[in-house]
Amino acid sequence: MSDKTIRACHLYGNLLNTYGDNGNMLMMEYAAKQKGVSFTSEIISIYEEFDPEKYDFVFFGGGQDYEQTIVSKDIQTKKEGITSYIEDNGVLLAICGGYQMLGHYYIGANGTKIQGISALDHYTLSQDNNRFIGEVKIHNDEFNETYVGFENHNGVTYLGEGEKPLGTVLEGDGNNGKDKGEGAIYKNTFCSYLHGPVLARNEHLAHRLVDLILDKKYNNA
Ligand code: GLN
Repeated sequence: MSDKTIRACHLYGNLLNTYGDNGNMLMMEYAAKQKGVSFTSEIISIYEEFDPEKYDFVFFGGGQDYEQTIVSKDIQTKKEGITSYIEDNGVLLAICGGYQMLGHYYIGANGTKIQGISALDHYTLSQDNNRFIGEVKIHNDEFNETYVGFENHNGVTYLGEGEKPLGTVLEGDGNNGKDKGEGAIYKNTFCSYLHGPVLARNEHLAHRLVDLILDKKYNNA
């Protein structure tokens, strides 16, 4: 073991955690330990302060509309901290509901507007009596990597300024079923609809995130 450490924050880990999304944290720990790096994590949930200086990695999982409504109210108090973490190139992974909350808003399945924090420029509408459910395969041309996962979402997301998709859809629906994009990348923030958990099914993505973190924190020295 080196004396390198990754300090991780699991945002709302007790509320947003569909399909075992917290397995992404276990995978990050596993990938870090394979590189001789220790890994600590804590859940930061409602009524708790998010201090961007305290973390090298932030994970934000998916959830049901009901839990997202609770998170939507609380996350406004963390908006400044999360936005500055993202703008400062902090490494973050957001899945499904968490992905939606980082954008402007999500119109939930019953038509209510669930406010996001506009840290990223996307927005999410809802589908009439439909969900995108099933296996997904995407390809990221820049990294030349393929990722697979399972999607189950009502929301349809449209990317905005500075965002590019995590990958091009080869199978499945992705962000909105129309433009072939899946997920989003903005600076060192990675978003996706893929459950699985996505890092357990795509170990290369876990290693990519760990390398990014180490590069930022230690300049890979
Ligand atoms: N509730 C959101 C939707 O249905 C997110 C779902 C999820 O995180 N799996 O779009």
